[in-house]
Amino acid sequence: MSEPRRISLCCADLGNLPRAAVEYLVLNLNTRQRQVEFEFLPVSATSPLLSPLGPGALISLDQFHRRATELVARVAQDMEHQSAAYRLPKPSLGRMVFVSLATLDGHYYYIYEPEYSAIFLGDWNTKMAPPSILESLLTLIIREGIYALVPNTTAGLTHYATRGCVGDFNASLRDTRYKVLQGFLCSECRGSVEAAVGSEACAAWTALLGKSWIGTVADSTSPATIVKKLGYNLFLTEGFAPTYRERFLQLLQEDGTKEFLKLVSAVLAAVLAAAILLWLKLK
Ligand SMILES: [Zn+2]
Repeated sequence: MSEPRRISLCCADLGNLPRAAVEYLVLNLNTRQRQVEFEFLPVSATSPLLSPLGPGALISLDQFHRRATELVARVAQDMEHQSAAYRLPKPSLGRMVFVSLATLDGHYYYIYEPEYSAIFLGDWNTKMAPPSILESLLTLIIREGIYALVPNTTAGLTHYATRGCVGDFNASLRDTRYKVLQGFLCSECRGSVEAAVGSEACAAWTALLGKSWIGTVADSTSPATIVKKLGYNLFLTEGFAPTYRERFLQLLQEDGTKEFLKLVSAVLAAVLAAAILLWLKLK
């Protein structure tokens, strides 16, 4: 069996989006297939390397292109220095993928270059939900894994028409909704992936895109439940973090709260019944 391709993720400051929820969900992909390994590079989001990519920042596309190659080299260098400081072996980095909540001035949300990719989610707003921003990010990262397996990616996995396929070309982040929600590979894209990795592995990646493996919060052992504990309810939260309304709805769904509300209702009903009886006697 050949060595897995490696995707080295380098996250800028993710603001209110729970970083642990993102990391857990992406690393869970490593347990469900053997062709690609995702890894997060421990580069500080506040380092001078990544701070220009923080949430709310506006970056010129030209400026990012000019800096990106240097950024890849410097992140790799930084990783080497850190590994040496801890007396660890020299790291073997994979294809680097930057994740940022900044906005490019041309409003591109994704950049694919031979040496690196970059995902920019600064244009996200809750009107784009469903899906949630976390589901969108996850799909874009799974697609990066599929891209790593298919030679000549841009020709084999991109088409202009919208089919709800991960290979749909979408000019704006808003238009990615269907590829995230449907989570499948059209016959054309499936053909490219099957030619690269075989039908069994292709089926495994299609299942990852479908996201049913995330499960539900009713199952205490599912990834959905763990992600919820890490601060993001995939079935309620749409944006970067839960709103007050989403927190309230989550509270109502929790068993303890349900039982408490039942008790309060029963007490109120008993008080009301006693008040009516008293009123009838006094008449
Ligand atoms: Zn397709």
